[in-house]
Amino acid sequence: RANISALKELGCTHIIATTAVGSLRAEIKPGDLVILDQFIDFTRHRHTTFHQAFLPHKPLHAAMAEPFSGHLRQELIAASLDFDFTTHQRGTVITIEGPRFSTRAESRLFRLWGADVINMSIATEAALANEAGIPYAAVAMSTDYDSWEENTEAVTWQAVLEVFRKNTERVMALIERTISRLAARQSLRDKIRTVPNWPKPGIMFRDITTLLNNAAAFGQAIELLSENYHNTQIDLVAGIEARGFIIGGALAKLLGSGFVPIRKQGKLPAATIQENYQLEYGAGRVEIHADAFPAGSRVLVADDLIATGGTALAACNLIKQIHGEVVGCAFIISLPDLGGIQKLERAGYETFSLIEFAGE
Ligand code: AMP
Repeated sequence: RANISALKELGCTHIIATTAVGSLRAEIKPGDLVILDQFIDFTRHRHTTFHQAFLPHKPLHAAMAEPFSGHLRQELIAASLDFDFTTHQRGTVITIEGPRFSTRAESRLFRLWGADVINMSIATEAALANEAGIPYAAVAMSTDYDSWEENTEAVTWQAVLEVFRKNTERVMALIERTISRLAARQSLRDKIRTVPNWPKPGIMFRDITTLLNNAAAFGQAIELLSENYHNTQIDLVAGIEARGFIIGGALAKLLGSGFVPIRKQGKLPAATIQENYQLEYGAGRVEIHADAFPAGSRVLVADDLIATGGTALAACNLIKQIHGEVVGCAFIISLPDLGGIQKLERAGYETFSLIEFAGE
């Protein structure tokens, strides 16, 4: 608690933790890295909250469904693609009290519970960072197979230390690359202007015109977006009217793909199909030309911003209706408090965004 609260006081904006873990899965080998996405807290004797008492009008129950920052995880995963060591893109850690290692029976139980790796530190720290409102992610370094497998030697401290030493360089390289990516994003974020109470009271409008008019920033934003799709075949980018045309057009040029406009009602000249949707400040309808592309085309959806996800989901539905395959949805900005990313992911669509505005 002292560490997290000191970081908070210092104005720390992100926490990337490292942790040595035992692997509970054959496929997570000693030496592999895991970007954790869930935890099970099996500690018993720790102070795991900053809330010591019920205080009037203070929220007490921190949301913990997604305990690790999606955005930080995305950055770590993107940075890991530049290296040739194995990085697992998700994993559940069970944090035990320690200091002893697990018995074979415990280790097997944790596997049944769905845990992938085991350690003695991360769950409580992640929970505290969440309470403190600091985005938190953790890179787990697999050092051993814990003790679930009868025919491997049970874990010893010497074995853990040996693999841990080898892993240190990898983790340092990964974190350095991640920090430089975060810095690039921060400088893009600083170029976006926020206009409060537009177009309606209560809306914080994120205006990208102040990013677009800067050649270097515009170029870098499109490059960072396109990087995410380097290994993906994309036939067409579908841009959503109007700012999605700017992002999608530039992205299509860089990816070497064609462009398809998804427009508001009544703008497309030939035969169309339509979808209705709700957004943060109203309702709308989007259309696509019924013959926009041949069936089976691989299409990337692009827009400036995802809020509730209504617009992007309607765009995905249009593409599916004319038998296109949605390979992903790319945005400059996401507003995680409005749940759009989850909405798209629940519907089975992969999403990628460069910058988050949360809690504002
Ligand atoms: P949604 O359908 O709720 O995800 O809304 C996304 C669409 O509405 C995008 O095309 C955005 O350009 C626009 N939008 C929604 N909220 C905002 C906002 N706070 N600032 C800027 N644009 C927004």
